[in-house]
Amino acid sequence: MDDLVKAVLEFRDARDWRQFHNPKDLAISICLEASELLEPFQWKRPEEVGVFLADDKNRRRVGQEMADILILLVSMADVLGINLVDAARAKLDENARKYPVERARGNAKKYDAPSS
Ligand SMILES: [Mg+2]
Repeated sequence: MDDLVKAVLEFRDARDWRQFHNPKDLAISICLEASELLEPFQWKRPEEVGVFLADDKNRRRVGQEMADILILLVSMADVLGINLVDAARAKLDENARKYPVERARGNAKKYDAPSS
């Protein structure tokens, strides 16, 4: 992760783009890239998604959109002084408390959903 962060920041700084990277515009950009990730799945039935993703060209396109999101997340974390790996680990710990394995295994219900 450290190498990726370094590469993302070097790319940004070589172009003097830090001046444009405020939290609002980065958050907007993350949402826009997430929408680009959704677009190829729109209106496809589950079986069509499987066929779509079996094609290397389509998988590459999906990977590129995922990469756009990751690059922007890294950029936003830098601007906000947030260690993304630490934040993700803390969120995993929080999720582990909300979704203990014995209750959540094989169960997609939200943690606060009433049990049936
Ligand atoms: Mg994109």
